[in-house]
Amino acid sequence: MEKHHEREHLALVIGAGVAGSEAAYQLAQHGIRVIVVDQNALPYGKIEDGLPMWHIGLRNRVEDEIDKKLRHPKIKFLPLFKIGKDMSLREIMENYKFDAIILAFGAWLDRPLPVPGIEKFKGTQLIYLNDLMKWFNHKHEPRYDGPQIEIPDNTVVIGGGLASLDAIKIVMMELVMKRLKEKYGVETDIFTLEKKGIAKFLEENNLRFEDLDLEGGSLVYRRSAREMPLKVAHSDDPADIERAKDVAEKLLNTYKEKFKFNFIPNAVPVDFEEKNGRLKALILEKTVSENGKLIYTGERFKRPANMVISAIGAVPVKLPEIPYKGDAIDTEGPTGSKVKGYENLFAVGNAVTGKGNIKMAKEHGRKAMEEWLVSKREPVAGVTRQFDERYLNDTDRRAERISDFILSKPIPTQEEVDHVWELVEKQRRSIGYTTYDEWIARHKPVRLEEILYKNKNHPKQ
Ligand SMILES: Cc1cc2nc3c(=O)[nH]c(=O)nc-3n(C[C@H](O)[C@H](O)[C@H](O)COP(=O)(O)OP(=O)(O)OC[C@H]3O[C@@H](n4cnc5c(N)ncnc54)[C@H](O)[C@@H]3O)c2cc1C
Repeated sequence: MEKHHEREHLALVIGAGVAGSEAAYQLAQHGIRVIVVDQNALPYGKIEDGLPMWHIGLRNRVEDEIDKKLRHPKIKFLPLFKIGKDMSLREIMENYKFDAIILAFGAWLDRPLPVPGIEKFKGTQLIYLNDLMKWFNHKHEPRYDGPQIEIPDNTVVIGGGLASLDAIKIVMMELVMKRLKEKYGVETDIFTLEKKGIAKFLEENNLRFEDLDLEGGSLVYRRSAREMPLKVAHSDDPADIERAKDVAEKLLNTYKEKFKFNFIPNAVPVDFEEKNGRLKALILEKTVSENGKLIYTGERFKRPANMVISAIGAVPVKLPEIPYKGDAIDTEGPTGSKVKGYENLFAVGNAVTGKGNIKMAKEHGRKAMEEWLVSKREPVAGVTRQFDERYLNDTDRRAERISDFILSKPIPTQEEVDHVWELVEKQRRSIGYTTYDEWIARHKPVRLEEILYKNKNHPKQ
């Protein structure tokens, strides 16, 4: 008879961002072998393609941390492997045995802007946040082959979270840098402008914003500045909630003064105007919020819009094998990470609800794995689905077939663990992967600060 407790355990982590690398590291520290796959050449996820590149110190620190984790001898990182394209989750579950699978694939589906017909401008005059950030962070790289964006005057950003403030800052800085150069021959760079702010930079150059002949960008939010989700209250105490609202309002006003954008609160885009196939304006409807409830007033007004940037949030991709509750993966358990209806299938970080930040993603990756490691009993029965009528919907019926298959298999033996490990190694060799450090060095892009500030200190240091 097999002695399961003598074999090594094997886990698969999908996504090598903050949450996935932390989950993998926790497992590896407990002697579990972990395969971490990522669709991109580089790990890091939103640290590379979300967090604006002016956060140089934060980005470098978090990426170094991820590197340290993924270098762990029990972890095998497999880049350029996309679940749903190179292999489906179902194929993985059917053909390979893992003691746990951890979904850490973040939230890369932009929530569609709910304005009927506006999608026809997608990629030209309608830009979603994921594309904006990819472009902004990487456009200076010689190998850059992502979306090309030219930000025009009268760009409207829709949204209200911290990421929407990053978006409107980018709009304003790009507009101002271009206009300063064209009109006054004044050149600056994004790091200087972000640190000083547009207002101060203009003042130092004896200019006023009005001199630039720009209408500027506008941030449209459906509620008031006080209701923007910019600061989380410490508790449910009404005094704490009011304090968080004060901070949100102050933050918005500081940003507005520093970066000179227009703020349009209590408005929702409901329609648009076009001329000769070009987007010209957004039709906005005024709202009021009463006790947190959003009410559309029926009063509409027009706002010129040569470009719309939608920063209303991103959600996890919909995989046919997983149950969802609305846009979020349906999870349960103390850390909200166990995917409902499955044994040993977990979701961590942004992948669960689409929301979060670096600290939350890391903590979730760690706590979820601690929860599993504590509850884990030998022998672990692979990634199996518990039959439960409550969760039986169409997605579940498809998943049912997977679980039938998995349940009929024994847990992976040591030979099978070694076999999968070797298969991944072969796959890595086929893409020219040698060592983690060599691969990272080959794929890390040149940084804008390195180009601009060769041998000089840049303003962010
Ligand atoms: C504009 C912006 C600004 C931000 N600013 C801050 C900030 O200042 N401070 C802060 O704390 N947080 C900030 N955040 C949020 C923070 O970056 C994220 O919450 C965090 O990085 C998410 O980590 P994650 O590991 O959950 O997901 P991700 O970083 O998204 O990682 C998921 C990984 O999964 C991979 N993947 C996706 N699909 C597949 C697939 N099918 N197959 C294989 N791999 C896949 C992706 O390539 C990615 O590497 C910001 C986010 C944005 C967008």
